[in-house]
Order: sequence, then structure tokens, then C-alpha cells
Amino acid sequence: MEDSFGQKWKHREFALASVSDLSSTPSSALPGTARFDSNGLQIHLQSHQIPINVDPSTVQLFKLSPVQSVCVVEGSDVGKETLYSRGVTIQFRNEEESAAFHCVVQQWKKEVNAQEGNGRNGTITASKSKFDEKIESSSAKMYFHYYGQLLHQQNMLQDYVRTGTYHAAVIENRADFIGRVVVDVGAGSGILSLFAAQAGAKHVYAVEASEMAEYARKLIAGNPALAQRITVIKGKVEDVELPEKADILISEPMGTLLVNERMLESYVIARDRFLVPTGKMFPAVGRIHMAPFTDEYLFIEIANKALFWQQQNYYGVDLTPLHGTAFQGYFSQPVVDAFDPRLLVAPPMFHVIDFTKIKEEELYEIDIPLRFIASVGTRVHGLACWFDVLFNGSTVQRWLTTAPGSPTTHWYQLRCVLSQPIYVMAGQEITGRLHLIAHNAQSYTIYLTLSAKMWGPGAEQGGILQTSSCKLDLKEPYYRMSQPQAYPLAQDQQSQSLVQTQDIHIQSQDLDEPEIVQQPSPNSCAQIDSLMQNI
Ligand code: SAH
Repeated sequence: MEDSFGQKWKHREFALASVSDLSSTPSSALPGTARFDSNGLQIHLQSHQIPINVDPSTVQLFKLSPVQSVCVVEGSDVGKETLYSRGVTIQFRNEEESAAFHCVVQQWKKEVNAQEGNGRNGTITASKSKFDEKIESSSAKMYFHYYGQLLHQQNMLQDYVRTGTYHAAVIENRADFIGRVVVDVGAGSGILSLFAAQAGAKHVYAVEASEMAEYARKLIAGNPALAQRITVIKGKVEDVELPEKADILISEPMGTLLVNERMLESYVIARDRFLVPTGKMFPAVGRIHMAPFTDEYLFIEIANKALFWQQQNYYGVDLTPLHGTAFQGYFSQPVVDAFDPRLLVAPPMFHVIDFTKIKEEELYEIDIPLRFIASVGTRVHGLACWFDVLFNGSTVQRWLTTAPGSPTTHWYQLRCVLSQPIYVMAGQEITGRLHLIAHNAQSYTIYLTLSAKMWGPGAEQGGILQTSSCKLDLKEPYYRMSQPQAYPLAQDQQSQSLVQTQDIHIQSQDLDEPEIVQQPSPNSCAQIDSLMQNI
């Protein structure tokens, strides 16, 4: 069967900024090329006549930086038993090409694995160890260590918006659970398995990869009325085998910006491995919402962090050579906090991810074209993002939302701040692109561009665009929760609101919006002027 990308990916060539063979002394770095064809990968060094032949299905790739990787190839001396490794450092021209190269290698590994799996028993071994192929082991180790600790599970359980919405969605849709086989994907403490059992599931398989699986067993055993219908299985959903197929998957795979942690991919793999074709997913759909925002205070706060590096006499040392790097570094951190929805400059738009249909590979790169109409004239400091997910039950459809102005969740909201703000007028079009590229540390590199036409004297001649771009690492957010919190809003100040909270669900281009059941959202808005006076 042809894979989702067709076979085109097998014939790609990458111009490399430099290649150096670690075994040659002295090691010299010269430009080269990496060529994939149906036989494998050939790395051509300008200095060598003979290319290095690499089997992409066995090569080990290590990222040294966003644009630099080491390829380690196993080999053996002719006629000798001794195994040796050959290492080549390759420097890509840019991050996109580096990501594309890693993607092609992943595809090779996947294809070879799938062939081997089918050869063995023709069924489910194809996605075995898929997780280990694409995720760096040190990242996975830290990740599962984190979730193995009860305090972090408690933090999620104490997010009552989150856990309460899951509970309501399951209990109100008993009809979907009664007598059904359920798989809990990433069960953590086992709470969602217990909810499913409360709703009458015939049997629940609680799959959890971290040490939390042991605590889940303990918690479940302590609830004997439900325990006999729940089996905890310790392992990754990519690897474990289950004795039967599931009628329903339940999971809480959402990270910041919905996709952080790359657990949606595990949810989708679990769907393909365990769910019957007519099965349901709880949740079934996720949406990333986006809108430009203005926040002078936040912008100044970030810009000021780098001021330290403007000292010319720090114990006699001039720190200014690193100011630019520090400045860019602070702007590469997405800001996570709860913000006032009145900071939005335009009605939001959204991008739908249908968990029931999306292919796992489609989550490696998410490209969202942006278009907004500014409601006010102001400085735009970046893009604000949040998400919601839909429990598409047969009885009740319920959204879990993390929108600004709605009751705050442990995800808060996320803002990508531009180091160069752009100016807009009311009614003006703002266009751009949000491009997310998955990396092997269970997160994404974010590329954001926002543009608006110039305005003011002289703008008519040529229609010049103001464009501002930034690159951020979703893995390194700036948690801004210790900042001054929201001030209550006086009645007469409501009119200053830039975009009303009720605008937040207005654009439904791709999805027929079902009846939405949400908790009422208190208008807990911050008053920017008071905040400004407080600094
Ligand atoms: N379902 C629980 C925990 C959610 S947090 C709740 O709602 O409270 C996500 C959990 O999924 C973590 O405990 C993490 O260890 C687990 N997990 C993440 N990826 C996994 C994978 N590939 N296989 C199995 N468990 C995974």
C-alpha cells in the first residue's frame, strides 16, 4: 500500500551547507549533498570522490542544533568481526530543510518497520516502537518521569474545568459507554478509566507508559465497585497489545496550543491500532483558535529582560555583544498566561484537527494561513492562541474550552510576541501564517508571520506591506503566572473592550458547530490602565 506521502519523498536531494566526516583527521567541513533514492541515502562530500552510503532505516540521527545533525552509521571492517561506527556531521542551510531531512529518514524507518511487521503476522506490529523512532530518548525519559509523579497528576485533577468537563461529558453520554469496551489512552492516575466504568463500560483498558501506572492500579483497586471492569496496562500505546478492540477511546492528550507534547499523535496511533471502524473518540475534534492581540505592557516586559546585556561595565566586562542574542532569545519564548480578551484586536479564527480522521504524519507539520480584520486601530504585538476540544456524544455535545475570558484552566492561553510590532487601522486586513514543525523533543518550532498594508501618508504609492516574523520554541514557554492578576472591570469600562468575548466562537468555516454546552464565563477582565500604573 502506498503511504500518505506517495513515494516522492524517496527521491529528495538536500544541498548541505557543510559536511564533515568525524573519522577524517583533521576534520574539514565543506559543502555537500544528501541524496535519497530508492536504494537509500548517499552523502556526498566535496572533498571525497566516493560518497558515504547510508541505510536510512538503520542510521542514527542526533540533532546538535536546529540546523546541525550527526548521522551515525554502523559498519564493520572487511573480513573482521569488529563493528565500528562512522559519524558525519551535517549542517543544513536552514531549519526547514533540517526538519524535512529528518522527516524523510523517519519515513524510511517507518516503511521498513511496517514491512517487517507485516512479514511477521500481518497485523499490528507495524506501529511498534513508532514513539522511540521519532522522539529523543532523553526527552521521553524526562516526560514520563514528570507524569510518573503524583503531584503533576494532582495538578491536572485539580483543574476542575478540565476534569469536571470530562466527567460531565462521560456521565451525560452514558449511552455511548454502557456495555462498551473502552481504551484510556495515557491513563495517568486512571481517573478517566474510573469515569468510563462509572458510566457503565463493560471493560476499560487503562494504558499508561509512566510509573504512574502502578499508582493507577492502587487507586483503581481502592474503588472495588469499578475495579473489576478496569485493567491497567503499563506501556506505550504505540507498543502494547490489547486482547480486544475498543468501541470508545478516551484520552486527555492536549498540551499547550493543543499540540504540545505530541501526544495527539499517540492518540491517533491508538485509534488506528485499537478502535473499531465505527468507534467513538472522546474527545473527537480539537480546534486551535487564533487572533492578533495588543499588549504594550507585555511587549515592554519582554524587551526589558534583555536590558541586562546592555551593560558595558559588568565587573569591567562589556556585555553588549550578547544583547542581540538575548533579545531574540526572550522573544522566542511563547508566553503562557491568562489574558484579558479585550486585548484581542480582531475576531478570532480557528483551525480544526479532527482526531477521528487525521493521519499521524499530518501532525508533523501544521500550516495555518491567517487572515483577520482589525476591529480597532492599534499596535499589534503578536498572535494569541487557545484551543478547545469537542466531546461529540450521542446524547450531549460538550466543548472543553481554554478561551480567554472563560474559566481559566491549567493550560491558560498562549501568546507569540513579535519583536517588531505592526500598526493597523480599524477595518484593516491582517494576513500571515502560523507554521508549526514538530521536533523530536515532543514539541514544535513555531514560525509566525503577520503582515498588514502600510497606512498613512505615502502608503497608496505601492501598497507596501509591514511584515513581522518570529520563530519560537513551544517547548520553552515563559510561564507568566506570577504577574499581576486581573483587575475587576467597572461597568462603564466595558465599552472599551476591543473584541467582545462572545465573538470568540463566531467563525465556523470548516465545521458544523453542534449545540455548545459551556459553563458561563465570568467577565474577569484585567484593566490595562491600572496595570500600567502599577509598574
Ligand atoms: N488521563 C489522565 C492523565 C492525562 S496526562 C487524566 O486525564 O488525568 C497524559 C498521560 O498520558 C500521562 O500520564 C502520560 O504519561 C501518558 N502518556 C503520554 N504519552 C503516552 C503514550 N504514548 N503511551 C502511554 N501513555 C502515554
